Amino acid sequence: MDKHIIDKAKRIFEDYLSRQGSRKTPERFSVIDELYALPQDEHIDVENLFLKMRNKGYTISRATIYNTLDLLVECGLAVKHQFKDKVALYEQALTYKHHDHHVCNQCRKIREFSDARINDIKEAMGKSLDSKITSHSLVLYGDCVIEDCENLKLG
Ligand SMILES: [Zn+2]
Ligand SMILES: [Zn+2]
Repeated sequence: MDKHIIDKAKRIFEDYLSRQGSRKTPERFSVIDELYALPQDEHIDVENLFLKMRNKGYTISRATIYNTLDLLVECGLAVKHQFKDKVALYEQALTYKHHDHHVCNQCRKIREFSDARINDIKEAMGKSLDSKITSHSLVLYGDCVIEDCENLKLG
């Protein structure tokens, strides 16, 4: 990930923490470094982020990672997902446009997709419900029939 993007994310976070009167600890900022170092389409849970950071020599607790991720969600720098049967997963959000997810029932792999028709439905439903729709989430669960489905590999 572009250093420029990480710097921008840190400025947004710094402003947010100032407004909240929260402490600007280096540990909190290091969570941005690590979340934004991941591939854009990666979704990570607290435990895996913790292990990754511990392996890199950070001294940070799970609780700090958990709390920081929630702060990042509040200021729009991360998105949190709660997929069926999975622990909460987080992904970076600053330059990543909205997308929806497909979760495989078998291998649990998460794939992303976006389709303009979903946006059309959103607008149409907003009209019919007299609502200014601000966001949506759509998760499709299915059995993937792609070659790298772990289930097919096992089978
Ligand atoms: Zn995603
Ligand atoms: Zn699969």
